[in-house]
Amino acid sequence: MATNVIFLGAPGAGKGTQAQILREKYGYYQISTGDLLRENIKRGTPTGKVAESFMKRGELVPDEVIVAMVRDALPADRARPVIFDGFPRTIPQAQALDAMLKEQKHSLPRVVSFCIALREAEERMLVRGREDDAAETIKRRFEVFQEHKREIEGYYDNPSSERFVEIDASQPVEVVTRQLLRALELRAAS
Ligand code: ADP
Repeated sequence: MATNVIFLGAPGAGKGTQAQILREKYGYYQISTGDLLRENIKRGTPTGKVAESFMKRGELVPDEVIVAMVRDALPADRARPVIFDGFPRTIPQAQALDAMLKEQKHSLPRVVSFCIALREAEERMLVRGREDDAAETIKRRFEVFQEHKREIEGYYDNPSSERFVEIDASQPVEVVTRQLLRALELRAAS
């Protein structure tokens, strides 16, 4: 059975690109909290209403909102491997995810950290130009990422855990994919 995976990494590290490959070629189900939040805002849901002001400022949306949203998004089919993209970003989110997966008998995820120099990630973001990619917001999103990076990596990267892998995300997309597949013990698809 394929392995669930958490993607960690700065905005612009290329998590979305790799998630798309796992989805299209390996049957992964993607839970991207950023995408879910943007969808909620578009539909004008209560979650969207709470999230909007935080996202505009590049701040994290409160943990309870995020955790409830992810809980609702978990696929009923446990055989379907899941990518958690952009989640968890805080220790309470990580603890909630562990509890949720255990409770619903989903397997514990591998954790892949996409490492990239912030300057390079920032350049990629400016090229991409998503709606919430205004220069000021981007700057704050990087700061917030830096503020939380150590705590969240520390949660997963400890001697008792073999589930943490770092990948140099400044490499070409295919190279990153190859290393990601190896980390997930998947064979390359054509
Ligand atoms: P990026 O990683 O490029 O910043 P995302 O789409 O992952 O983009 O997130 C965009 C925004 O959505 C974040 O700045 C934050 O406000 C909110 N968000 C997404 N995921 C989370 C999360 N796990 N916890 C709190 N806020 C989140």
